[in-house]
Amino acid sequence: MSQKQTHAFQTEVSQLLDLMIHSLYSNKEIFLRELVSNASDAIDKLRFESISDDSLVEGKEELNIHIDVNKDAGTITISDNGIGMTQDEVMDNIGTIANSGTKKYLESLDKAQAQDSNLIGQFGVGFYSSFIVANTVTLISRKAGDDKANGTKWVSKGKGEYSLETVEVDNFGTSIILDIKKAESEFLDDFRLKGIVSKYSDHITVPIMMVKSSEDDVIEYETINKATAFWAQDKRDLKQEDYDEFYKSLTYDFEGPLTQVHNKLEGKLDYTSLLFIPRKAPFDMWEPKRKTGVKLYAKRVFIMEGNEALLPQYLRFIKGVIDTADLSLNVSREILQGSKVVDTIRKASVKRILGELDKMSKNRPEDYAVFWSEFGMVMKEGIVEDFDNKEKIAALLRFATTETSNTDQNVSLADYISRIKEDQKAIYYITADTHAAAKGSPHLEIFKKKGIEVLLLTDRVDEWLVGNFGDHEGLEFKSITKGDLEDLDSEGEKEEKEKVAKDFDKVIEKAQSILSEKVKAVKVSSRLSESPSCLVADENELGSNMERIMKSLGQDVPETKPILEINPDHPLVKKLKDSVDEDLVEVLFDQAVLSEGGQISEPAEFVKRINKLMMG
Ligand code: ADP
Repeated sequence: MSQKQTHAFQTEVSQLLDLMIHSLYSNKEIFLRELVSNASDAIDKLRFESISDDSLVEGKEELNIHIDVNKDAGTITISDNGIGMTQDEVMDNIGTIANSGTKKYLESLDKAQAQDSNLIGQFGVGFYSSFIVANTVTLISRKAGDDKANGTKWVSKGKGEYSLETVEVDNFGTSIILDIKKAESEFLDDFRLKGIVSKYSDHITVPIMMVKSSEDDVIEYETINKATAFWAQDKRDLKQEDYDEFYKSLTYDFEGPLTQVHNKLEGKLDYTSLLFIPRKAPFDMWEPKRKTGVKLYAKRVFIMEGNEALLPQYLRFIKGVIDTADLSLNVSREILQGSKVVDTIRKASVKRILGELDKMSKNRPEDYAVFWSEFGMVMKEGIVEDFDNKEKIAALLRFATTETSNTDQNVSLADYISRIKEDQKAIYYITADTHAAAKGSPHLEIFKKKGIEVLLLTDRVDEWLVGNFGDHEGLEFKSITKGDLEDLDSEGEKEEKEKVAKDFDKVIEKAQSILSEKVKAVKVSSRLSESPSCLVADENELGSNMERIMKSLGQDVPETKPILEINPDHPLVKKLKDSVDEDLVEVLFDQAVLSEGGQISEPAEFVKRINKLMMG
């Protein structure tokens, strides 16, 4: 075929062109990303084929991509010394749509849908995106290994037809010349093009060259992309220092990460993930709108950052890169949400991160303690958010308990269960504003006496966590400040306590009438051994800590009255049996409020009463 011939586009191609020009007008710059990506693929193919046949590269040492702007002519040329195309291949690849799925899909679209820019992400727009910015596109190609005389020139205005011609081409590879539309002349600017390349194509492994300077017809080129995809390297060739450096360049952190997971998968799905666990929580971790810190690449071309589809919310502190060959460059956020590919990658990534944390908790407890103090609060969200991984996340939780000497959260549920008493049916906890308030709570007295461990919960999310946890290994979470604690006592103890309580019937009756405005009931306590009194809530009520949290968040809290429990062994309480002194009853109530970190309603009255009692 030597003379020029004209061919019609497959109808679908015309349709695609039409659709694209209408839907991508707000994101025109992607034409460069697409052409550079094609050029890079062509070079990868040549590299691969020249392994078995080095005559293909004709002694060319560097395979690269050039982007040249000619302002006077109004053109941009993107050329590569990659595999190139024969004339038949040009006809097959450019001007037809190979993928029959895409074909069917296009047929099913109606005009209105075609205006929807989200749809475009379902298939690669590739080469045709040139027509967004160009009036005429010229493609000149010569297949590596073919004769100079066997080059092909393809020209089209993108309006239904293209011409083909056999031409002489000096070098193998492909050049694409875009005759830029007047309205798009902003793209005839080197600086602008460099910006687009660094935004999308920095990690393309092939060097992308642009003119640095040209003087007296001597043209000097420079490489404008980083040209290494760090994550594409074999992990056996990488040291922790290398990961640290890459992490810092990715995140602008000053120090390296705690650890990372780096995996390359080939086969059914083809992707690489490199995910870092930072040492420090980001300042905006609690911003409701905060996105995850993972960048998505398709074949080393940047697609987007921080999509919720890539990792669940509770892992929003993870930083890193996911690079896959299985997504189109033009995939939109909406399409990612429903993508099977993304779903599979997400599941595998979560599994790897949780696995790595489990390993860290066993082998590097100091690092894990750092992790937990920074990210423990968010990990707790995972218990509710990620039902499939609930057990794995539960194994990563750490708590402060009555067995730990300091405020550190370092007891796992497995530790707790290993120390559980025979017949113990619950994991006991207390929530409070501070560790000191939790640890000093009178409610703990009976647990101390019986040697039962209690979780001391002081994180804001803890109430919500235990409230939504459900069972853990057959044990329920039970607040030590709510309901009665019948489970704790033996039959004998119960009988004994009932007898004692009977002696207080009169006291209870009177105290209830004195405190009728403030409490729901007064009871003889079975949980106190040192303090004279404490407050408890009904089994299914919020509890005073939760009420305080909700009030501090500006929420309306239904008025519920607590139950006052009094300790029948305490001398002050015993005194009530002789006569039920009103001041003493009021003081017992106020003390109970104070000892759990609450605020009494009439402090001055309290002081007066105390003074009166002390004066005798
Ligand atoms: P995609 O890249 O998604 O396959 P394109 O329309 O961009 O879709 O390209 C269609 C085909 O044309 C490519 O699959 C490739 O075979 C061929 N092609 C495009 N650009 C080049 C190039 N620079 N060098 C060699 N072949 C190319």
